[in-house]
Amino acid sequence: MAITAIKGMSDIYSPEVEVWQQIEEKARQLFARFGFRELRTPILEKTELFARSIGEDTDIVQKEMYTFPDRKGNMLTLRPEATASIVRAIIQHRLYNVPTMGKFFAIGPMFRYERPQKGRYRQFHQVDAEVVGSKEPVVDAEVMYWAMLFLEEIGIRDSELHINSLGCPECRSPFRERLVKYLREYEESFCKDCGRRIYTNPLRVFDCKVEKCKEIVKGAPKVLDSLCGECKKHFEKVLFFLDKTRCTYKLNHHLVRGLDYYNRTAFEIIASGLGAQNAVGGGGRYDGLFKELGGPDIPAVGFALGIERLLIVLKESSPQLKIGVPDLYMIALGEKAQEVCFSIAQGLRKKEIYVEMGYELKSLKSQMRRADKFGAVHVLIIGENELEKGIAILRNMVTKKQSEIALDEVENILVERIKKESE
Ligand SMILES: [Zn+2]
Ligand SMILES: [Zn+2]
Repeated sequence: MAITAIKGMSDIYSPEVEVWQQIEEKARQLFARFGFRELRTPILEKTELFARSIGEDTDIVQKEMYTFPDRKGNMLTLRPEATASIVRAIIQHRLYNVPTMGKFFAIGPMFRYERPQKGRYRQFHQVDAEVVGSKEPVVDAEVMYWAMLFLEEIGIRDSELHINSLGCPECRSPFRERLVKYLREYEESFCKDCGRRIYTNPLRVFDCKVEKCKEIVKGAPKVLDSLCGECKKHFEKVLFFLDKTRCTYKLNHHLVRGLDYYNRTAFEIIASGLGAQNAVGGGGRYDGLFKELGGPDIPAVGFALGIERLLIVLKESSPQLKIGVPDLYMIALGEKAQEVCFSIAQGLRKKEIYVEMGYELKSLKSQMRRADKFGAVHVLIIGENELEKGIAILRNMVTKKQSEIALDEVENILVERIKKESE
């Protein structure tokens, strides 16, 4: 039996992979405009990193991590998200000391052991951004603006920004008290996990996917009503700067994100077409994480967008992006002609022309059919006759017009013509 890929992990190939490339390319361009630098971290980290940052009592750490011992028995985990690794790397290399570096991005695969379904995979990919070193609300707004602008630029227009504040440790404890008081009234009705969470980590009850738990938390107290003066001011300023970007947003009182390290601003971007998994991404502020991971006390804010989810939304909202069409398709008829074609093709490619060539010495008819499948407009045909005359035939597949070009001028003439057309 043939070996297949692991469940929930996909091969990505054409024509879809070209859409991936365009999304990644767009992200890189937009990151550059905002001054983000790429930071590539390993896919494997010590398990401890995620347990400490994401939180022991989160679904991610409890149920969803790919964790295993290496040959020496050290526990390793395939990264389930990017922030923890990025923070670890920034601390390890003291990147917070470099004045020109405060904004980081990463694009790559993440791993979570979940039941695969539409928009949820065991290997999934994220575009991730982190801004390090500032508490200022203007940064929160800018980060959210980046995400909204990115969605707009790749062609997703009907997304919604949902936002909440989770407060700071100071205002979190009175909130926690109010929340626990409320949750305990329904103690008997919660699922087993939530029954425990009420006492260990009550905020996590908001993440529960069980229907009856979701119903109960609808009436739960709002964090915004418990914010301390500083957090309230911060949140108001975030909204003020968001208004300046002309992003529209909705307050979502029960948005808490499934990770423990967030404080103050938390946000999600919701897009239609995703069903229950309707967030294409989200993020927030995590001012305590650097210290938690043994670094200096540095505030930070960031977000991640799921590429697979963006693709689902894109598929439903706009036509497929077009894949690259060769500038020239070359048809060789006979071995001698193939030798000549081969060197012309390499010469043209060196001059930045995209050339496709029939490698099999098939009939003219069958090679023309293949050229047509590629969507090539220009086809260069060389056979025994042409070789004898020292020419090649250039055929325009749209106008059906043919012309002869002297073999020793083929390269120059084609480069000129193709570059002129693409201008
Ligand atoms: Zn506070
Ligand atoms: Zn529950």
